[in-house]
Amino acid sequence: MRILLLALTIPAFAAPLPLGKIPPGHVLLVIQPHHDDHTTDYGMGGLIAKFTDAGYESWYVRASNDEKDGASGYPLNDMINLRESEAATRILGMKGVYSLNWRNDYMDPIPLIELRAQLILLIRKHRPDVVLGHDPWGHYDRNPDHRKVARAVAEAVWMAGLENVHPEHFALGLKPYRVPYLFLKARVDYGRGHHANVAMELTKSQVERKQKAYVTHLNVYAHPSMARAIRRQLRAENLTVPELEGKTDEEAAVLIEEWYMDWISRKRGAENGVRYAEVYWYRDEFDYLPGLKDYISTNAVK
Ligand SMILES: [Zn+2]
Repeated sequence: MRILLLALTIPAFAAPLPLGKIPPGHVLLVIQPHHDDHTTDYGMGGLIAKFTDAGYESWYVRASNDEKDGASGYPLNDMINLRESEAATRILGMKGVYSLNWRNDYMDPIPLIELRAQLILLIRKHRPDVVLGHDPWGHYDRNPDHRKVARAVAEAVWMAGLENVHPEHFALGLKPYRVPYLFLKARVDYGRGHHANVAMELTKSQVERKQKAYVTHLNVYAHPSMARAIRRQLRAENLTVPELEGKTDEEAAVLIEEWYMDWISRKRGAENGVRYAEVYWYRDEFDYLPGLKDYISTNAVK
């Protein structure tokens, strides 16, 4: 009985995920609620750098104005966060940022159809081969902006391909376009986590660019007070970390955040049999037709 109880209470070691590949194509659209969602611990910065290395041209859509992210007050937070987002996306090799400027954390009242229409327009303009976003089918995300934008993205990538949807766009010379490939992420620090189906292997250089992009968001990350608190704790336990010696609290905080990005990338890598990785819920255009997908991969010729 005791052995049985142990078997029931110890979770089985998760099997490694299959390693994914960069899909064929050349345009990437990253659509996120916030200025920093492309460089979080739970994904995207490393993968965006990987797309850049594969020759993709990529664009970032920031749906909210991020006025509540930071300690500088609403108007300044908006401006600082946009500036830091532009700097971080440049580090990752992206071409530019669209800021839709919906009100941060108060996005629930905006009509879904209006946000979706904005995304359909951008999808028809850029005709991305790949879209990166939050997973609207994730178990739970307490952030209202994440839920709202994730749903709008899921609808827009499909509806942009329908010729009866927003036909006024065609007067501008745009054409219907359906996005073939999706990489979706979800938070893992609350809810029941993320059910990823693919691991994307990263190189050291891609992780380094992800680290740099992450700590570019100084308005929300790498606060000197965090380094001060860690040093206080170390001193109380008579411990020291040599790499932090001689550094200001500002420099130490940046270094600690870079270690964190390195750690999470190594952890996802170790779980999936490689040195560094990020994990995603990946869909391609034929995933909903598995029989057709098998037939094409077996029988298609050049
Ligand atoms: Zn966010």
